[in-house]
Amino acid sequence: MNARIPRILFVAVLPALTSCQNPPVKGPIDGGRALAHVRNLVAFGPRPSGSKALIQTRDYLLGVLRKAKIKAGIDSFTDPERAKGLRFHNVWAEIPGTRSKEDRLLVLGSHYDSKLCRGHPLPEQNFRFVGANDGGSSSGLLLEIALWLEQNPLPIPVLCVWFDGEESLEFDWNENRALFGSKRCVKWLRARFPKERSLASCVPVMILLDMVGAKDLSISLDLNSDRELISIVAKNARALGFEKHFFKGKVSVTDDHIPFLNYSIRVLDLIQFGDETSGPPSWWHTPDDDLDILSERSLAIVGNVLVASLPEIVKRFYK
Ligand SMILES: [Zn+2]
Repeated sequence: MNARIPRILFVAVLPALTSCQNPPVKGPIDGGRALAHVRNLVAFGPRPSGSKALIQTRDYLLGVLRKAKIKAGIDSFTDPERAKGLRFHNVWAEIPGTRSKEDRLLVLGSHYDSKLCRGHPLPEQNFRFVGANDGGSSSGLLLEIALWLEQNPLPIPVLCVWFDGEESLEFDWNENRALFGSKRCVKWLRARFPKERSLASCVPVMILLDMVGAKDLSISLDLNSDRELISIVAKNARALGFEKHFFKGKVSVTDDHIPFLNYSIRVLDLIQFGDETSGPPSWWHTPDDDLDILSERSLAIVGNVLVASLPEIVKRFYK
């Protein structure tokens, strides 16, 4: 009988040890389903602006949204001066809120184009690039968040936007020929509301997701993001036991939130972009940014910390 005790203990202790190393992610956002969307996007191949794969990705997003009966559409546009011959497509989905007579929006965004990595002057700038994390992870996660919001609406309407044309057309960053979708989106939103209302009063908060699925998840503390939004998300990350994945390294990020910031909208970029000393992660803008570096757990962590934070964000900024 005595001899059996250690064996029973061993069986009982093993799952406990495993769960200590990797506590389960509690919350409604399913990382596995988000990762399945990412796999489907990546399967279309490299999807720079203007590519057939991007159109397939656009139609995939739209198809999933419409199947769930979410009001969704495409805003197509061109920029002949800066992007001759290219046609861009922002995908949007709008989920009504429960509060009556509330037209102020919370915007959640992600870019879904992948960086153009062909036709550049230097050999090392040309390779097959699918942007599994960069453009893929956040787009799949945002899709899953939109589906959840449809079933669990906030008091206020939420506009989810998948931006085209985030990536710079030149290999090295050129802000003038990048952020096409988000620059367009703020103009599109400006036209929606009366001129006498400031855009920041109509869209008090914009939250961007970008590169949120890496196995070694570490969301940067972006110096362009709003301090109060950071502190609400940090508090919820702590409450869920994921504080080690958030806001460890400081870095100033130029991304799709900046056109919104330029209208004095409170913005938050949840992005893994290293810090001022380390620079961006090693896989960033390399062939290594493929499905192998992703984990459903990281997607679940970001998704659940974000949705846990939303009620407080609404309470604080949508009084
Ligand atoms: Zn990128």
